[in-house]
Amino acid sequence: MEKERTLVLVKPDGVVRNLIGKIITRFEDAGLKIIGMKMVWVNENFAKKHYREDIATKHGEKVRNDLIKYIGEGPVVAMVLEGVDAIKVTRKIVGSTYPNDAQPGTIRGDFAHISKDYANSKELSVKNLIHASGNEEDAKIEVPLWFNKDEMHSYKTVHDMVCFGEFK
Ligand code: ADP
Ligand code: MG
Repeated sequence: MEKERTLVLVKPDGVVRNLIGKIITRFEDAGLKIIGMKMVWVNENFAKKHYREDIATKHGEKVRNDLIKYIGEGPVVAMVLEGVDAIKVTRKIVGSTYPNDAQPGTIRGDFAHISKDYANSKELSVKNLIHASGNEEDAKIEVPLWFNKDEMHSYKTVHDMVCFGEFK
């Protein structure tokens, strides 16, 4: 079984709420390895590559257009996390899409509480602090969209040595 890589973004609301450190800590604490990290302020063209047409199929064209604005409202912190079952484990730590539904202990459950209905009644994006690739297919598109090969690094953590038996 190979380790996986997944893309995580601290969205503009997470950055301006000074939550970058607290959010990153959740992943570090679980032993996920940050193999790439940077702050980026994306333009509309790039945002459209990140939030692709399938978002409009899932949520409608308005939600996609609002998301493209939301992700470009300010800088984001982008990172690639690596670990065993990293895509699912990261989503578990992030919590459900709508913060009012997200479990306590998850990032969205602990740091936000807006609902889909409230956001939609006020024509707002659901500000939920963080993006994480939804599945293997998304991760395969999103990791290379945000990071070149030379922006990702290979190194051993104590977690690798203690938990995964990688002593070399
Ligand atoms: P997730 O981020 O949990 O993978 P999706 O990929 O389905 O969720 O949606 C992408 C983002 O779109 C969500 O994180 C949220 O910010 C926003 N969003 C989802 N549904 C709605 C909605 N009904 N109204 C406004 N914004 C939404
Ligand atoms: Mg998604």
